[in-house]
Amino acid sequence: MTKRNIVCVIAAHPDDEILGCGGTIAKHIDNGDEVHVTIMAEGVTSRKEQRSYEKDKLLLEELKVTAQEANNCIGSTSVRLFDLPDNRMDSLELLDVIKLVEKVIAEFNPNIIYTHFGSDVNIDHQLTYDAVVTACRPTPNQAIRTVLCFETPSSTEWQPSSSRIPFAPNWFISLNEEQMRKKMAALDVYHSEMRNFPHPRSFKAIEALAQWRGASVGTTYAEAFVLARNIVD
Ligand SMILES: [Zn+2]
Repeated sequence: MTKRNIVCVIAAHPDDEILGCGGTIAKHIDNGDEVHVTIMAEGVTSRKEQRSYEKDKLLLEELKVTAQEANNCIGSTSVRLFDLPDNRMDSLELLDVIKLVEKVIAEFNPNIIYTHFGSDVNIDHQLTYDAVVTACRPTPNQAIRTVLCFETPSSTEWQPSSSRIPFAPNWFISLNEEQMRKKMAALDVYHSEMRNFPHPRSFKAIEALAQWRGASVGTTYAEAFVLARNIVD
C-alpha cells in the first residue's frame, strides 16, 4: 500500500465493515488513501416479524448516525447506507442490487474493493458478495485491480465447511496498536450489535481473532482476507 489508493468497502449491514476490515480501513487512511464505505441493508427491521419502515424509521435514523460515528473513529472518507431490507435481500432482484453497487463504483472509481466472503451463513452477505463480483467484472477500462473478501465473526465461521467453500485466508494486513484501538473504538460505537464473550461478536473474541490472524503471520495484530482477484498491470 504505497501509492494512493481509492478504496471501496461494500458491506451488507452496519458494523460488518468494522468487524471485517475496520483496522484495514484505518491503515489505508494512515497511508493517505481514500476509503468509501457502502452499507447495503439497513440492519434493523429483521428484528421484527414484519418489516415496518414507518415504525422503524427512528431506529433506522439512529443507526445511520451510529454508522457515521463508528466510521469517524477509523477515519473513513465517506459512508453511505442504502435501505435494502435487512436479512431479506433475497426478496430483491439480484440485478437491482448489482445496479446499486455499479453506481457506487462509477462514482468513486476505486482500485481496491473489500467485501464479504461469499460462503457466509448470512444471506445478505452472500448476495452482497454476488452483486460485488458482478459489478467488479474486469471489463476494459475497469479501474478495479484488487478484490478482497473479509471474514465477519458470527457469520463466516458459522458456515459448516461441508456446505460451502470454507474461509481460508491468503491475504493478511497487519495492524499497529493504534489501528487496532480504532477498530475496537468503532465497535464500541456499535455496542448494541456486540455480544458477551464467548460469542464471536464480543470484544474479547474480536481482539483474539486479530491476535490469532496476526500471530499466523508473525505480527501482533492482523485482519485476514481471501483474495478474489488481483490484476497486475
Ligand atoms: Zn452482516
